Amino acid sequence: MAINVEQYNQIKEALGDKAVLVAVSKTKPADDILELYKLGQRDFGENYVQELAEKQLVLPNDIRWHFIGHLQSNKVKYIAPFVHLIHGVDSYKLLLEIDKQAGKHKRIINCLLQVHIAQEETKFGFSQEELAEAMKSINASQQSGLLQNIRVAGLMGMASFTEDQQHIQKEFIYLKGLFDEYFPASSAPDAVLSMGMSSDYALAVNNGSNMVRIGSLLFGARSKP
Ligand SMILES: *Cc1c(COP(=O)(O)O)cnc(C)c1O
Repeated sequence: MAINVEQYNQIKEALGDKAVLVAVSKTKPADDILELYKLGQRDFGENYVQELAEKQLVLPNDIRWHFIGHLQSNKVKYIAPFVHLIHGVDSYKLLLEIDKQAGKHKRIINCLLQVHIAQEETKFGFSQEELAEAMKSINASQQSGLLQNIRVAGLMGMASFTEDQQHIQKEFIYLKGLFDEYFPASSAPDAVLSMGMSSDYALAVNNGSNMVRIGSLLFGARSKP
């Protein structure tokens, strides 16, 4: 077996009904995904459009595919027919394109806005100010009948690449604060806060995450990032 069944069971048990597990299968073969599928896993996450499109063709139809990578506007069309949730939306322009492509397929595509919470410049996402502006534009557009084919379902973030748990926790608390501000449980009980990966998922869930994206713990280390 290529996948770590014991880890899978442990993670599922630890998450309970607190958080949805997205199994991140990027760079891993379809056979590995099928193994996990046979154990009941249905949510899978991929980072690369072409890889996702190829896997989707050969794998069961009831898999919920999450796009968790950095999405370029010109590639939205390849995943629009089937994608379940797009995690890393980081511009209004991208949202417009997702809306357009979703409309062609008569779908409503759920999206998460990515917030830049890490120290690293290399990571993507809105700053706090940009998020405020984007939320305002989105709400105004939707109230005037635009952007009817997307739904902003919540927020996503990636913590800094560091061993310093306290630092990571600070970033998670910061993101949870923004999440509560824009998606209060009273009016948005189903909103999604996607935060936490293999190395920090427990910390993320303890700090309010309700969706974690876990790759290497389940599928083993990757050779490509
Ligand atoms: C690759 C990736 C993950 C999974 O990372 P692991 O450390 O292998 O669990 C989660 N989220 C994003 C955005 C990723 O690119």
